[in-house]
Amino acid sequence: MQLNHPSQAPIGLMSAMHEELALLLQAMPDEQRVRLGGRDFWLGHWQGRPVVAVLSRIGKVAAATTATALIERFGVDRIVFTGVAGGIGDAVRVGDVVLADAFVQHDMDASPLFARHEVPLYGRSRFATDPALSRELAGAAQQVLATVAAHVGEVAVNQFGLQAPRLHTGLVASGDRFVSTSAESRALQQALPEALAVEMEGAAVAQVCADYGLPFAALRTISDRADDDAHADFSRFIQEVASRYSLAMLSAWLKNAG
Ligand code: SAH
Repeated sequence: MQLNHPSQAPIGLMSAMHEELALLLQAMPDEQRVRLGGRDFWLGHWQGRPVVAVLSRIGKVAAATTATALIERFGVDRIVFTGVAGGIGDAVRVGDVVLADAFVQHDMDASPLFARHEVPLYGRSRFATDPALSRELAGAAQQVLATVAAHVGEVAVNQFGLQAPRLHTGLVASGDRFVSTSAESRALQQALPEALAVEMEGAAVAQVCADYGLPFAALRTISDRADDDAHADFSRFIQEVASRYSLAMLSAWLKNAG
């Protein structure tokens, strides 16, 4: 296979759930499955680039071990996470996309020994994503959101109210809970007023990538508002909207990155 990029190291593409990555796996022409540590790693090429695509499964531990394997065993030189998240920032709506500029673990609390949310022995609570990689992904996401009907179809646009989806950049909170009550969502907003979205994996991957000095970026499509209706239409939204956004955004990114 002809590579059009000087780097031979594969790109790690990660999602939590099968539905989030299904279309990408279908699009890889030569994917080969390697099973390791209870995960399927899909090695192959996409848009002429070597990639390793993997489903982490759900939660911080699963995400951390998967990221470590991507780095240690498959030699990826960067990791891009795509998936869904609950919107908690006021202006963050279903169908919008959040690009994380940093992650925090909302359920990390070793107080009073350490400040709330601080990861013990790291001296900080926030783990930043890579600015250059994130800028590339922002461009791709803007491109897709400007032509959303072409990617998900008019029916989904009307059904899910995707008339004017927006890209937001900011803090994303991760924790081992599916936040699905308005009370919990409000508590999270109070504890972390600048957080735009909540999910269950990103902060773990960000910490592993910080440990290894590897660039990391994450795009999350908002599937719910982390409130009492969070579970409604969740799977259908991922299949009909989020997985198509992810495929289109990753595809646009790799094309733009030429
Ligand atoms: N109903 C699903 C459960 C998915 S858990 C099932 O049965 O498989 C939620 C997944 O989507 C996690 O990977 C998490 O990262 C993301 N997510 C979406 N909305 C979320 C929310 N409101 N709170 C926490 N995680 C959320």
